[in-house]
Amino acid sequence: MIGEQYLLLPGPTPLPEQIIRAMSRSMINHRGPAFHDLLFEVTEGIRAIYKTEGEVLIYPSSGTGVMEAAVANFIAPGDHVLAVSIGVFGDRFADIAKAFGAVVEKISVPWGKAADPQLIKERIDRDIDKRIKAVLVSHNETSTGVVNDIPAIADALGDHPALFVVDTVSGLAAHPFNMDEWRVDVAASGSQKAFMIPPGLGFLAFNRRALAIHKKINNSRYYWDVSTGLEYLQKGQTPTTPAISLFYGLQEALHMMAQEGLENIISRHAFYRDLTRASIKAMGLGLLAEPEHASCSVTAVLAPPQLGANRICQAMLQQFNIVLAGGQQSLHDVIFRIGHLGYVRELDLLATVAALEIVLNRLGHPVELGTGVKVAQEYILKNQSDIAVEEGVIK
Ligand SMILES: *Cc1c(COP(=O)(O)O)cnc(C)c1O
Repeated sequence: MIGEQYLLLPGPTPLPEQIIRAMSRSMINHRGPAFHDLLFEVTEGIRAIYKTEGEVLIYPSSGTGVMEAAVANFIAPGDHVLAVSIGVFGDRFADIAKAFGAVVEKISVPWGKAADPQLIKERIDRDIDKRIKAVLVSHNETSTGVVNDIPAIADALGDHPALFVVDTVSGLAAHPFNMDEWRVDVAASGSQKAFMIPPGLGFLAFNRRALAIHKKINNSRYYWDVSTGLEYLQKGQTPTTPAISLFYGLQEALHMMAQEGLENIISRHAFYRDLTRASIKAMGLGLLAEPEHASCSVTAVLAPPQLGANRICQAMLQQFNIVLAGGQQSLHDVIFRIGHLGYVRELDLLATVAALEIVLNRLGHPVELGTGVKVAQEYILKNQSDIAVEEGVIK
């Protein structure tokens, strides 16, 4: 029996039943008191997860939408922008800035590696007349499964006045992210990654420094204009019709997340990373990311070249109804990616590792059965999340 699908993508992720149920409620007036309270509650919730005292606006959009909002609101045409790219999403941020008329200087890091803060520091130190107005960085690069060291990059920027703009779409709530402490000025995230809700909400966070720059520049903007967003937020509204169902889902997700505790959620994701990487290694497969920069949301596995990653993904789907992500662009057919963020549990990963061993054998790549599974089991046995389970928190 093929059964229900295991969706192990780095977004969209599986949804808890209680969130699906929450989203099935009837519509309310988005200019009425119930939505007012809902909007305040979830905005506070997202602010707490960003660990910021700054502003948070929730847009009806995918993650890319709020990356565009970050550019449209805080970067003026002609501004010199330093875009640090370690993969597909880093490139996307650079492209958005270019599309809005910024002069983009890109630091491109070989895929699979993290950005070197020292290199960024050298470039920033050379910018004596402070021409660089913004530095764009991905927190967790989903295409390669690599996390950048955001506090180290903040240190590299020192007291340079450039805005520090971070894409944490797949990073937030799966990795530590302390927006204010790390001196991040603008951050973008979205609903379909660690938040256990469907795609369709973007979370833009920004501080007073960014807002002051926003007021000074006259970029073309309408839908994304944070001034309008803040004006409406004061009244407990959004400028345009909000995605009300997704707000219900977000409210429920934030309740679940508060119950589990942000620190526990983050350590659970780190545990998934460790379990997945150790099991894959035990099977004799390679990992794209180095251990010190490995993502807690997604693991990129190097497929045996004679097999190719696509055949493995296809077989996992056909034989076990397990959905893994392939590689993008130059990593197409080279890697496959196991998403382990949001509503995922140990058992899902244990099953995935077991299925992968079978699939590899069937495809003619012999792996001794149980090698990866045993490691995964040992991890689960050793790193007991028993306390959380006893309390009924991990469901
Ligand atoms: C998913 C993701 C995005 C946004 O993608 P959308 O498809 O627009 O939601 C941006 N950056 C990163 C790092 C992501 O993982």
